[in-house]
This record gives sequence, structure tokens and C-alpha cells, in this order.
Amino acid sequence: MSEPTSLLLGLEGLQVTSVSALPDRTRLVEVITCDPDAAACPSCGVVSTFVKDHSVTYPRDVRYGDDPIRLRWWKTRYRCRNDECDRATFTDRIREVPAR
Ligand SMILES: [Zn+2]
Repeated sequence: MSEPTSLLLGLEGLQVTSVSALPDRTRLVEVITCDPDAAACPSCGVVSTFVKDHSVTYPRDVRYGDDPIRLRWWKTRYRCRNDECDRATFTDRIREVPAR
């Protein structure tokens, strides 16, 4: 089940937490990841529940209607708990918004 606002923006896997209008008509859309697969380690595929810290990224500009939209994406950094995996940490990611 997709979150409707994310679907509207073509960003399935992200959940909009708030929207605010900036003075230049840009809308600032705060999103978090809501895809359960996003917590899977990209190296070994083991899903991590060990949150290391959080970070904020600004993915490519998304347009909706005439006004530009600025995404502020609150990402989670996980620590991979698989002892046999070389990757120490990774951030959540979704297919629709590739990492830059
Ligand atoms: Zn791993």
C-alpha cells in the first residue's frame, strides 16, 4: 500500500511528513523512507535494525504543477550486523531516487 502523497509525486517508498511553502513559491517537502526493503544492506541483503545515525539529503528537484518542489529527505544510516559482510554502514535508499 503506497502512501498517497508520495505516489502523487512519483516517489513511491517515501512518506511525506510535512509540506511548507517558501517565499519564492518553492514547496519544501519533508520525506522519510517508508520502504521496508530500504533497510536491507546493499552488500549482503541482510535487513538491519541497528540505526547508527541520521542524515539529510536533497534529491534532484521534483516538479509538481508549475511550482518547484524541494525534497528534504531524512535518511537513516544503518550498521550491518552481518559478521561476514565487509560493509560497515549504509543508508536507506529506494529505487526511485538513486543516490548521487
Ligand atoms: Zn551487509
